[in-house]
Amino acid sequence: MTTPAAIRIDNLVKEYASPGPGEPPKLALKGVSFDVPQGGIFGLLGPNGAGKSTLINILAGLVRKTGGSAEIWGFDIGDNPRNAKRSIGIVPQEIVFDPFFTPFEVLENQAGFYGIPKAERRSEELLKAVHLWDKRDAYARTLSGGMKRRLLIAKAMVHSPPVLVLDEPTAGVDVELRRQLWELVTELNDQGVTVVLTTHYLEEAEQLCDRIAIINHGELIADKPTRDLVGMAREKIVSVTVDKDLGGPIMEEAFTRAEVIEPRRLEITYDRDKASAGQVLAIVQSHGYAIEDVTTREADLEDVFVQLTGAG
Ligand code: ADP
Repeated sequence: MTTPAAIRIDNLVKEYASPGPGEPPKLALKGVSFDVPQGGIFGLLGPNGAGKSTLINILAGLVRKTGGSAEIWGFDIGDNPRNAKRSIGIVPQEIVFDPFFTPFEVLENQAGFYGIPKAERRSEELLKAVHLWDKRDAYARTLSGGMKRRLLIAKAMVHSPPVLVLDEPTAGVDVELRRQLWELVTELNDQGVTVVLTTHYLEEAEQLCDRIAIINHGELIADKPTRDLVGMAREKIVSVTVDKDLGGPIMEEAFTRAEVIEPRRLEITYDRDKASAGQVLAIVQSHGYAIEDVTTREADLEDVFVQLTGAG
């Protein structure tokens, strides 16, 4: 038996209405399907405009889907929206608080909104978890940017959802705060919360997530364990300048890709477990070219991303 998914997305479609006369409607999600397994940290990656926020907003009940289905913790967002919503906590990108409430009041109000009886509220525990207990009585407007983000995380956890979604949690934050947020996310995950985060920082996804899905132009283009994606980055790229114009790319079994960049320059990608730079150059020479210049570099997750999204 397989464990049920924390989130199941099946052929999800979103078409935004035309913004004005003469403008076409925008197909933001073109039939996306994937599962978020329970218990992990799942990264939803994609360049700006890929459809990440649209997908998160559909799960949050803020945007209405055009087609397909989504389940959160087994509850269909269309058939069972109340239970679906109770199963998810969403940390938005934008920081929005009433500046005259204190962190303690922010959490109590949110608990009231969910109808959680006083005796079952977790405000103290949550403020301690996000290291804001000493700020419990300060006005929200006096908190630093980092404290506000941590408060947003606590607010999203008030109703004890099994799934926590963070939309671009570290966009525009400094290195120290990013580290703090990563720690907090990891702590929550250790306590059993399934975490989903959207990001366009590959490094963040690589460090935090055990599984990564990539969307681009509203389509799913990858959904793999992080180590497999990083494994795709076990490639090396060698750029070779030869003595005469290349007739076409030289493609050999040992290469993953070969591309003519300039009339006399060829870029060859190969798996460093399967070939060496020396072998690559020998193959080029065996096609009758003399080598005038060579540079090499290692591929990283960034290259995999660019390769998959066709960006850059
Ligand atoms: P991401 O979060 O990956 O940057 P979004 O989900 O915000 O992507 O946007 C996906 C696409 O949908 C973009 O082309 C965007 O311009 C468009 N879009 C987003 N929101 C709306 C809206 N309310 N009305 C029309 N188009 C929208």
